[in-house]
Amino acid sequence: MEFIIIGGGISGLVAARELLKNRHSVKIFESSTVLGGLASSFKIKNKFIPKTYHHLLYNEFVMLDLISELNLQKNIVWNDSHLCFWYDNKAYKLTKPQDILKFKPLSIIARLKMIRLGAISLFKKDWSDLKTTDAYSWARKVVGKEVTENLFKPLAKIKFGELSSVSAAWFGERLHEAAINREKYAYLKGGLQQFIDLIGEDVKLRGGEIYLNSPVTSIKQSEVEVVMNGRKKSFKADKIISSLPPPVLADIASLPKEKKQILKQIKYKSLVCMVIGSKSVITPYYWNVFIKPKMKFGGLFHHTALYPQGGINGEKLYYLFTYLDNTDLFFKESDSKILEVYLKDIKKIYPNFEFSWMKIFKIKYSSPIYTMNYENLPIKLTDSLYLTGIYRKYPSTRTMNTAAKSGLETANYILRENNQETFINDK
Ligand SMILES: Cc1cc2nc3c(=O)[nH]c(=O)nc-3n(C[C@H](O)[C@H](O)[C@H](O)COP(=O)(O)OP(=O)(O)OC[C@H]3O[C@@H](n4cnc5c(N)ncnc54)[C@H](O)[C@@H]3O)c2cc1C
Repeated sequence: MEFIIIGGGISGLVAARELLKNRHSVKIFESSTVLGGLASSFKIKNKFIPKTYHHLLYNEFVMLDLISELNLQKNIVWNDSHLCFWYDNKAYKLTKPQDILKFKPLSIIARLKMIRLGAISLFKKDWSDLKTTDAYSWARKVVGKEVTENLFKPLAKIKFGELSSVSAAWFGERLHEAAINREKYAYLKGGLQQFIDLIGEDVKLRGGEIYLNSPVTSIKQSEVEVVMNGRKKSFKADKIISSLPPPVLADIASLPKEKKQILKQIKYKSLVCMVIGSKSVITPYYWNVFIKPKMKFGGLFHHTALYPQGGINGEKLYYLFTYLDNTDLFFKESDSKILEVYLKDIKKIYPNFEFSWMKIFKIKYSSPIYTMNYENLPIKLTDSLYLTGIYRKYPSTRTMNTAAKSGLETANYILRENNQETFINDK
């Protein structure tokens, strides 16, 4: 069969690879000039650096298998990385129970409640029983007012908004993930880009065709219109797989009104992310959450704490970010204004901060918002149009692993529909 895959992010690339393994023909159309989508990198001083913070966790088996299949397992570097919360300009490590015991902003009773929740989260694997309970009510019941108001509520605001608007199932999954992974974070020696490049090369080696700088502008049944070198071209296939955010797909696909409606129901958070190179050590910790005082950037990832070789010329590399709605005025601000606002806040914790370079990325569709009663979209939208992407995997977290899983799932669904077994051992 002939397939067209729209989008060369991880889910699209993984789906392509699986179909190619099963002797199908695949064309990938990617609007950007590079592969990788949300996990793509930019080049500075001959070095590729991810546009946004990225790490791997030890239980991300699909990604880890993929990395091994591409012979990159030797490049996985595990590091002791710490999550810390900033309270009144002081960083508190909050990784192990003994750290929680030392977390002075909370009373002893509240700290003990948190440790108890840590233990529950570690052992509770399935949170689906809490799908219809909101995270705020659940947290109030389990850890009480003090932890909920002073920690979980501001934490939620940083990433997705109101705690009461998301389900306890999704929030619980996050806690479970944090509890089982603790300090086990990894990065790829040599950068994430080599993984993206290798998977792209593997797709091509298996006969797949990849067209960069080729945005798909319309989809009609099994035909797509693509802009290539400024000209519109049409391509036909037996089946089309879309890895686009559903609202984007709704805008370009000819579909019945009710199907467009389903796609548009998936809402996204947007993101402003600044990557900044500096000699200053703002924090020794990898993952920094700012609770008090409030900063415009809710979080800071210190990439070189995870992977010391990750900066330019031995410098430190930081990601500062703000999740927001795309209608928020800050999303529309100029780079110089964003820099000014972020620098003012950095100087609250590190008055002598200086930097040598910075780059700002704005991502409109950075993360689906998993509101209460969120329903995953079906894999098969019409007879010829199939879906893949993280938004299909609620309550799983937005990770490369989830994207890869979704790519495999969609490809295997189509293969099963056609009574074709996958070649499990085919590398
Ligand atoms: C700030 C941030 C931090 C993250 N941190 C981590 C982390 O630490 N660890 C981790 O594992 N994951 C992390 N992720 C998540 C990970 O990057 C994503 O889950 C994954 O890359 C999503 O892949 P995807 O294929 O589903 O979607 P996407 O990457 O969004 O792929 C969709 C592709 O479609 C392309 N496209 C869009 N419109 C068109 C069009 N009209 N025609 C053709 N192509 C089009 C896009 O350019 C893109 O390449 C992070 C993501 C963000 C935003």
